[in-house]
Amino acid sequence: MRYSTLFGKTTKEAPHDADSANARLLTQAGYINQLMAGAYTYLPLGLRVLKKIQQIVREEMDAIGGQEISVPMLTPKKVWEDTGRWGIDVLYRFEGAGGKELALAATAEDMVTPLVKTFAKSYKDFPILLYQMNDKFRNEARAKSGLLRGREFNMKDLYSFHLTQEGFEKFYEESKEAYLKVYKRCGLDAIVVKASGGDFTEKYSHEFQVKTEAGEDRVYVDKESGDALNKEVVPEEDWENTDKYDVHKTIEVGNIFPLESRFPDAIKFKMNDAEGNPQKIIMGSYGIGPSRMMGSIVEVHNDDNGIIWPKSVAPFHVHLITLGSKDDAVRERVESVASGLHDDLEAAGIEVLWDERDLRPGQKFADADLIGIPLRLVISEKSLAQNSIEWKERHEGDARLVGEGEIIAEVKTWVDAPMRLTSHE
Ligand code: ATP
Ligand code: MG
Repeated sequence: MRYSTLFGKTTKEAPHDADSANARLLTQAGYINQLMAGAYTYLPLGLRVLKKIQQIVREEMDAIGGQEISVPMLTPKKVWEDTGRWGIDVLYRFEGAGGKELALAATAEDMVTPLVKTFAKSYKDFPILLYQMNDKFRNEARAKSGLLRGREFNMKDLYSFHLTQEGFEKFYEESKEAYLKVYKRCGLDAIVVKASGGDFTEKYSHEFQVKTEAGEDRVYVDKESGDALNKEVVPEEDWENTDKYDVHKTIEVGNIFPLESRFPDAIKFKMNDAEGNPQKIIMGSYGIGPSRMMGSIVEVHNDDNGIIWPKSVAPFHVHLITLGSKDDAVRERVESVASGLHDDLEAAGIEVLWDERDLRPGQKFADADLIGIPLRLVISEKSLAQNSIEWKERHEGDARLVGEGEIIAEVKTWVDAPMRLTSHE
């Protein structure tokens, strides 16, 4: 893709209210645009990143048996009344035509549980594992930190329904492993943290937390046992106890909950077992925020010059830059080598953003650093004098030359190589 045709360019001006690295860098680099506090448009670059994160989440949910559905985000009052949640703080409630009371989905236990009740006919249908990936709406008191806390944000929510506690627990552990795979594949080093079970259960829920200064959560890691706890489940008298705990600022990128039978019971949903005895249905819910993940990745992977995307979620693999020349013949040669390379890389399944604009090298390099694509290739009079292309990875300081004949193979090898988890803080 040619940068000159890309909708959404870099800008030197930082948004006046940017309160975080992700809000500032994603806006300045042309990934997102704020419509209002807590609601962002994804520009073409930003949507590419979000979709890559979602695809990784989808693959890992499919791998543990999840089946993807899509529940309406526009919902009737009745489902929330049935579960006793019509009054919750974060729910956007409003009136539709004819005075019909509606809410925008803040989560979906309230819709998915009756859906499962409609379709589950026998104990043989269990376990049932359904997920969706769409926007959720929450009337957050304070939307802030770019993609970290939105009022409309993207969420993957999975719901599991089981007839035995053992079956539930087995799946719950599988989901933990799947979540950890998701974060690792996205370049995030997440830890599993015990948190409150909320209104649903006396047991803990489990959060997935990423350590970073930008985080608004506090995780207490017990120095002796290694147990990680959300501050909310640490006794208040221990909050200052740094002999017992290491305390970290973190961002919550996922949360899984044992819901016991709270929602099935609310709608009188039971299922007869093989002996014909009605059994309680045990449920879990499992949430990941792909949009918050996108913001978190930027918080963790950046430097003074811009974003440093892990290659698995970068909008493009390669940022190709051509440098101009006053000499027409040289310029034509640079253009023609670049155009051939662009097409050959795309044909090999490698995503290339080609900055072919007639700008000073310094400006193009600064834009490339800001946008943060992991591999930069430069074609110039200088490199072609050595039949080479300049290769520089975003997280490294030095460039090197790669022969024109070897470049496609080298890029392919680089794209396929396993990702290292590097922190760029
Ligand atoms: P928080 O405590 O940060 O408000 P939560 O515990 O209310 O989040 P959950 O209901 O557990 O959130 O939602 C599951 C996941 O959805 C979270 O782990 C997070 O990744 C994402 N998420 C929740 N609220 C938001 C939000 N306002 N903006 C962006 N992502 C969110
Ligand atoms: Mg949570």
